[in-house]
Amino acid sequence: MPAIAYVNGKFSPIADAVVSVEDRGFQLGDGIYEVLRTHGGRLHATPEHMRRLFRSLDAIKLKHPFTAAGLEKIILEAVKRAGFGDSLVYLQITRGATKRTKEFPKGIEPTLVITVRELQLPAPALRERGVAIMTADDIRWQRCDIKTVCLLPNVLASNKAIAAGCFEALFVEKDGTVNECASANIFIVASGVVATPALGTRLLGGITREEVIALARKNNVPMEERRVTLDELLAADEVFLTGTTAEILPVVKVNDRHIATGKPGPVTKRLHDLYRASIA
Ligand code: PLP
Repeated sequence: MPAIAYVNGKFSPIADAVVSVEDRGFQLGDGIYEVLRTHGGRLHATPEHMRRLFRSLDAIKLKHPFTAAGLEKIILEAVKRAGFGDSLVYLQITRGATKRTKEFPKGIEPTLVITVRELQLPAPALRERGVAIMTADDIRWQRCDIKTVCLLPNVLASNKAIAAGCFEALFVEKDGTVNECASANIFIVASGVVATPALGTRLLGGITREEVIALARKNNVPMEERRVTLDELLAADEVFLTGTTAEILPVVKVNDRHIATGKPGPVTKRLHDLYRASIA
């Protein structure tokens, strides 16, 4: 089965899918996106992803005709056509194609692109041994809570991290405040208490982040959403990151510093076991 694309009403193999050179996503980064996955063939956390998607659309004032039910129907059809065991679904909506102008154009339809590829989870060895991450100055804009396609700072930070042999980049403010990774949220565990940076405009409200917080609370694991500093993170007993494809991944090294013993910790493992059980 080929990876599938859907563009404005038409399904095709990804290689045959096209959008206009005048699309505002391509020209201006004027669009938003979502990434969903299936578990055992079923779409995971669809209402949560849809809520975030519509929130992003509202935040950038993108007028559109879409409904959650309508989008879900298209996604399910694309997933079915692709036929993978488990799928990664990428959905992007831009303000549409027209002559390049900063002003919101009138009378055009938004562009809807969906692609479905086979889901690739991190290699089991990464979860067993943990990953290294690298800090990066957070040079992003002030609305990181919107899932926009403007990801150049994330691309640059990720590549610097990858070039250094790291799995992820961790965005940190000049004052030492930890925000999130380039494609994941971050958590620390210290003296049995789990903490993650509080929601705000400097980080994306990850769906997995919410799931982990809910699981911790439900299972009496002390959990705080608050400011987290880099010093705290480096001194933590455990660090882990969360994301739709990463799930819950232990972080054992930050720059050249090991976290505690440099091995994944028990709270991370427990939360991942709870996460797996919750989606089974
Ligand atoms: N933060 C950023 C910047 C991301 O790009 C992502 C996911 O791609 C996340 C956090 C994690 O979000 P989710 O758990 O919804 O995948």
